[in-house]
Amino acid sequence: MADYNAIDRLTAQLSRAQSAASERQADVAGRLHRARRVVVLSGAGISVASGIGTYRGAGGLWENPELLEAHQVGSLPDSLPIIWSVKGPMRARALAARPNPAHMALVKLESQLVGRGGRLTIITQNIDGLHQRAGNTEVLEMHGSMMRSRCYDRTCSLKPFEDTYAPPAGEVPICPRCQVQPLRPDVVLFGEALPWSVISAAEFALHQADVLLVVGTSGAVSSATTTIDSAAAYGVYCVLINKEPWDHPHPHVNETLLGSAEEVLPRLVFLAAAQAGAA
Ligand SMILES: [Zn+2]
Repeated sequence: MADYNAIDRLTAQLSRAQSAASERQADVAGRLHRARRVVVLSGAGISVASGIGTYRGAGGLWENPELLEAHQVGSLPDSLPIIWSVKGPMRARALAARPNPAHMALVKLESQLVGRGGRLTIITQNIDGLHQRAGNTEVLEMHGSMMRSRCYDRTCSLKPFEDTYAPPAGEVPICPRCQVQPLRPDVVLFGEALPWSVISAAEFALHQADVLLVVGTSGAVSSATTTIDSAAAYGVYCVLINKEPWDHPHPHVNETLLGSAEEVLPRLVFLAAAQAGAA
C-alpha cells in the first residue's frame, strides 16, 4: 500500500523548495529593478541554446590534449593550421547561429536600465559575437573575438579586422597587408594576457555597479573568479545563474539561481519589468 503520508510530506517539501526558489528570484528581480548600473559576466553557458557548445567538461574542446596544446601561445606559429581548423568551422557555426532568449533578455534589461538613466555592461568570455548581434551596445570581450582576424606579426600595420572568412581545413590565411605572415584569429590563447583595455573598462564598470550577474560560466575559468573578487571589493551584490552549482562555491557570491540562462534570465527581466510597472 502506498505511503500517502510520505507522499504528502514529499509534496510539501517540494512546494516549499519551489516557493523559496521563486522568492529568491523575486528578490534578485527587485534588485535589478532598483539598480542603475548592472554588469553581466557571461560565459559559454549563455550560447549553448544558440547551438554553440562549451569548451570545458565532457565532450568539450579542451578534453582533447592536442587541441589544448595547440591553443597555448608557446605553440605558435606552428599550431596555426590546427587553430584555424578549429576556429574556421566555429566561425561558420557562429555566423549561422542566432541569439537565444538569454541574449534577448539582456537587450531588454539594457533598455530598462537606459530608460531610467542607467547602464548595462556585458563582460563576456565568449568569442562568438552573439551579444552584439542581439543588440547590446556595451560588450567587453575578455577573450577576444573569433569574428576578427589579425596579423601574426605584431609589428605589421594591419589592425585587427572583422572577418567572416572560414578557411577550409589545412588552410592558413595570409595577411593581406604584409603578404608574408599568417593571420591568426583575434582571440586570447592560453598563456596570453587578457587585453588591457578590456580589463580596465571592466574594472571601471564593476566599480560603479549595483549588481553583478554571473551567467553560464564555470568557477574553473579564472576570469570569472577574479571578476567576482573585484565586484566584492566594490561592495557589488553578486548573483550566479548557472545550470549547476560550482564545485567550489565562491565566498563572494551572494545568491545562486540554478537553471539554464535561457530560462532564468527572461524570467528575471520580466519580473523586474513587472515591478517597474507596479511601482
Ligand atoms: Zn601582416
